[in-house]
Amino acid sequence: EFVNISELFNYILNRFDMIIANDDAPEKTYSIHREIPKSGIWVELDPSKFTQVIDNLMNNAIKYSPDGGVITTRLVDKQKEVILSITDQGLGIPAKDVDHVFDRFFRVDKARSRAQGGTGLGLAISKEIVERFGGRIWVESIEGKGSTFYIALPYEPYELEDEDDWND
Ligand code: ATP
Ligand code: MG
Repeated sequence: EFVNISELFNYILNRFDMIIANDDAPEKTYSIHREIPKSGIWVELDPSKFTQVIDNLMNNAIKYSPDGGVITTRLVDKQKEVILSITDQGLGIPAKDVDHVFDRFFRVDKARSRAQGGTGLGLAISKEIVERFGGRIWVESIEGKGSTFYIALPYEPYELEDEDDWND
């Protein structure tokens, strides 16, 4: 299925804004900053699977940011590829662990992570899904400062057809 990636990304993030707006559950204060231009980028993917990936990245950004903070979301058109990113101001990931966070059941700090709940499968599943769409997922992180998770998805740039084609 082809989806407008800017619209879908915004739609998923709207649900996290609604969680913030819920005064009954002010578990954590965070705010989402968006740099998501409107675009005519259509990507072939399964929207519910893609939602699962963004949900996990957003939940991680919140879960591993003790003080909440600002979560910055971006969409950058690279022509033939669109890059989405989610940046938090949280714990970050130690350099020695960065290469392992996409491994099944890997968790940076076993004790801390256990207290936070979860299985350590979220990123392994996310990687599988993104790669099935023909994309890539990776992270850049500085311990104690925060992390940015990136997703690159391929797409076919829309080409204007000759007017004749429209009249056929
Ligand atoms: P699950 O997603 O299955 O509920 P989880 O969040 O622990 O559990 P993953 O999403 O796979 O599992 O993440 C793996 C580990 O990578 C986490 O346990 C955490 O240690 C680290 N991690 C993931 N995202 C971040 C982040 N944004 N900041 C700091 N550490 C992170
Ligand atoms: Mg997770």
